[in-house]
Amino acid sequence: MESSRKYDITVVGGGIVGLATGFALTGRHPGRRIAVIEKESSWGFHQTGHSSGVIHSGVYYRPGSLKASLCVKGARALMAFCDEHRIPYQKCGKVIVATCPEELPRLEELHRRGRANGVANLSLISPERLRELEPHASGIRALHVPSTAIVDFRRVASALAQEIRTRGGSITLSAELRRIRRDGGAFLLETSQGEIQTRAWINCGGLQADRLTRMGGSSPALRIVPFRGEYYELVESRRRLVTGLIYPVPDPRFPFLGVHFTKRIDNNIEAGPNAVLSLKREGYRKTDWSLSDILEIIRFPGFWRMSARYWKTGLWELTRSISKPMFVKDLQRLVPEIRSEDLVPAEAGVRAQAVDPSGSLLDDFQLVESEGSLHVVNAPSPAATASLAIGEYLAQSAARHFGL
Ligand SMILES: Cc1cc2nc3c(=O)[nH]c(=O)nc-3n(C[C@H](O)[C@H](O)[C@H](O)COP(=O)(O)OP(=O)(O)OC[C@H]3O[C@@H](n4cnc5c(N)ncnc54)[C@H](O)[C@@H]3O)c2cc1C
Repeated sequence: MESSRKYDITVVGGGIVGLATGFALTGRHPGRRIAVIEKESSWGFHQTGHSSGVIHSGVYYRPGSLKASLCVKGARALMAFCDEHRIPYQKCGKVIVATCPEELPRLEELHRRGRANGVANLSLISPERLRELEPHASGIRALHVPSTAIVDFRRVASALAQEIRTRGGSITLSAELRRIRRDGGAFLLETSQGEIQTRAWINCGGLQADRLTRMGGSSPALRIVPFRGEYYELVESRRRLVTGLIYPVPDPRFPFLGVHFTKRIDNNIEAGPNAVLSLKREGYRKTDWSLSDILEIIRFPGFWRMSARYWKTGLWELTRSISKPMFVKDLQRLVPEIRSEDLVPAEAGVRAQAVDPSGSLLDDFQLVESEGSLHVVNAPSPAATASLAIGEYLAQSAARHFGL
């Protein structure tokens, strides 16, 4: 951290959203003192580093929503950033596969949404064309999304951090924000590496975003409820079963996409992620739990309302998490040749999903303004794809809100 430790804006959280925000701020306001602090010892350690690595195109999201506009804009900006910084990505395309007639109206709705959101070259395809694209997939109809790509978001995060530094911003790892005090018109941020004085701050805390909002003196009605996403990986000899990305038609009641096959930029093929309630916000193993995280969840009325509404789905997700045969059965709907012995467990991720007091899972990105601060309280998928556009959006909000 720089010796003066006085900044105009401090971004808290060095995931891809915080870094993209620091990148946009240093680009728009070169004369301002901008800092990004991150509690872990590497950039993009949590959600960013545990994602599927898909640059989404924007077919899923309600036209007019922030997710829709920022995903489409962000995907374009991200690929341009990767070109400029020689970060490999691959436009491998994706198919969303309907496996029964009941899914057809929802598939058609995704086609409509994608077109309304400006996603290029979408087409509804026959089972024969599906076989040409994905010879081992099976379905009665599919939506082909050729613009979907894959990338390593951790590499993007590191390149963003480097750019912020090059532009004169301050970036600090292993600096955990622990307390916030007011100091006249400014804020004193107490971190594990000492105190920072800042005129304004932006909360990009991901899984900790609601806690940071409270630390800043606001009381958000929302809570972050962590949902673990568990993956399997295909053994090398069976990777040939998947060419690109094979997804099911998602259940529109949830912001999750259903277990799918994802080609990774390192040529691995992953299957997952599911969505299981996690007993620890930053816990990546099934056995991880934290008493304080559990207490916080069970004291939140929205959790019980959510559970009353979706207990069947929650139970089903839990059972499928424990039972590999059930996980495999779901995958076989998309690729019938998959067998249990083709899959080995891989590293899981945890999603930060905001839930409101009525028990609804917030669908859209959400940004909350408070005096001298901005809070990203809901930035689930596709926030990694949309990160550069979210960063621009936050930098614009900051200019307005903080009077830059
Ligand atoms: C399993 C899974 C799969 C996904 N797949 C995709 C995908 O394919 N494509 C896509 O676009 N999106 C995907 N997402 C979503 C995407 O990963 C997230 O939306 C995105 O990474 C959010 O970025 P973030 O910066 O907000 O959060 P994070 O990456 O979680 O970063 C928040 C940071 O804040 C830091 N922090 C928290 N508290 C403090 C504190 N007190 N002091 C300092 N630092 C603090 C944390 O350490 C963390 O590094 C996926 C997510 C998961 C979990």
